[in-house]
Amino acid sequence: MRLFYYSLLVSTALATSGMAQEAAPHNVILFVADGLRPSSVTPRTAPTMTALLTGGVRFENSHSIFPTFTTANASTMATGHLLGDTGDFSNTIFSGFRVPAASNSVTPFLENDAVLGQMNQQFGGNYLNEETILAAARAQGYSTATIGKVGPVHIFDPTEASGQLTINIDDATGTAAGIPLASAIQPALTAAGLPLATPSRGANGVSGTATAPGTKVANTVQQQYFASAATQVVLPLLAQRSKPFAMVFWSRDPDGTQHNQGDSLLSLTPGINGPTSRAAVRNADNDLQQLFAALYELGLDRTTDVILTSDHGFSTISKQSATSYAIQPGYSYPGVPAGLLPRGFVGIDLAIGLGQSLYDPDSNYAQVNPTSAYTASGNAVIGDDPNDPLVVVAANGGSDLIYVRQGDSDTLARVVGILSAQDYTGGLFVDDAFGTVPGTLPMSAVGLKGSAVTPQPSIAISFKTTDTGCGEPTACGVEVADSGLQQGQGMHGTFGRADTMNTMGAIGPDFRLGFTDTAPASNADLGMTIASILRLDIPAKGKLVGRVLSEAMKRGGPVPSSSRQTLDSAPDANGNVTRLAYQMLGTTYYFDAAGYPDRTVGLQ
Ligand SMILES: [Zn+2]
Repeated sequence: MRLFYYSLLVSTALATSGMAQEAAPHNVILFVADGLRPSSVTPRTAPTMTALLTGGVRFENSHSIFPTFTTANASTMATGHLLGDTGDFSNTIFSGFRVPAASNSVTPFLENDAVLGQMNQQFGGNYLNEETILAAARAQGYSTATIGKVGPVHIFDPTEASGQLTINIDDATGTAAGIPLASAIQPALTAAGLPLATPSRGANGVSGTATAPGTKVANTVQQQYFASAATQVVLPLLAQRSKPFAMVFWSRDPDGTQHNQGDSLLSLTPGINGPTSRAAVRNADNDLQQLFAALYELGLDRTTDVILTSDHGFSTISKQSATSYAIQPGYSYPGVPAGLLPRGFVGIDLAIGLGQSLYDPDSNYAQVNPTSAYTASGNAVIGDDPNDPLVVVAANGGSDLIYVRQGDSDTLARVVGILSAQDYTGGLFVDDAFGTVPGTLPMSAVGLKGSAVTPQPSIAISFKTTDTGCGEPTACGVEVADSGLQQGQGMHGTFGRADTMNTMGAIGPDFRLGFTDTAPASNADLGMTIASILRLDIPAKGKLVGRVLSEAMKRGGPVPSSSRQTLDSAPDANGNVTRLAYQMLGTTYYFDAAGYPDRTVGLQ
């Protein structure tokens, strides 16, 4: 049945391909399968996605943006800008102020609607400092809707917190922390027999411990609610309105399940390639299939483009180190097996290495003894005075962000020196404001320096990446991760190719059929491409923009030429060099992988 609906979509797309210009732009659905690797898309596990990529456009030279995290890539899809412009540098950033909705932390986790609202208040009404495609579509009179994972969906229209203009249904719907339901949606949900509050993840949300495996089930119940709301309530409403629509559907799977899966406790294999992770891919595929079926039944298949992407790839977690203070004799941490890294090890190593006190921004700035305890979320405020810290660490997973005071080149150099000596360090990137720092590349070289209004990170550390030797490194990547999850569970966020290699495809009236696009493409390009399909004219403040993927479109030309290049830092005192492998297409840059060549998947 899946392929039946899909073949109808293709045949109708074929029928419209020769037609003259339509009066109105086509509708766009952006379907994000969070953390989906291309290698996971097989006919058996993901038949609908396979059909989309085979029958429509497959972008085989695809790119997530570093740091390869969810809200960061949501911001780039939503605006078409790289992170140096959007300021959403990672899932957890240093905000520069105590965020009430994050328990007064200065390192808020951005997957939270209330936190996003307070970030907007602090940063001129829109913390992204760029108009999003959904905000522009809404301003043009189109219908707009965002459904799925809390955080990234609201980032597509972050200044619309009323819920009345852009329909929003996410994890927080029906709670005090959520965006209100649009008034037209409430009775329709009830009429469809659906609750007005999103179900929890239930057993899928269980991440386990070092002695108890994490979840063995995909996020099926919660996502079926989102799929039902989309297909039985939102799409029928949009179909009734005689105007174009833009809808984002963000599937937490396979990401949430790959993080939490209990298939591989403390072992690198099967890691994120076990049965629970496969069930999560199938769950996302099942949601997409339901959207296609609804488009067909509502007569929207001829007029709707469906774009498939993932925000980032994925890797299996390693907690190995021989150099961190945290694994030395005499140091131990609750719940952490001897010899393995605890969460917050970067904050621990910097506090000890700098000889400074460690405070926990997520526990009311309580002081933490770095020889025997870690902070609640791995974040760290370091210095004599937690109100005026020397260093702040925003812990994220496969990479962390580190902030030092403006102009404090001495502390910057000491932090870089401490990290360069660690075996878990995979590469270092430093704010251009500190000048050339041996062993590191400037943030401007990787799109992290632009017109952002949030605090500029001083250092981004990408952790070491390897693979388990399955033959395709992006299918079985391994990375050190600053996370409370266990070795053998899943993470992303590094600059290794297993994390920067996302899944991208498209099908519908604007796109070519059966076309493999070999040109480099990124999540920033999707923002520009959607704006082009909807004929939105969005003025840009920053200059770090993607391109319209015109070669993939029926009205586009041939595949443009591109080149592959590398950029090396000068070596530091330990001999470490951070290398960037990138592609250029015209004036657009694509970052394949970056880091120390012998510790980075994609550079070996
Ligand atoms: Zn994600």
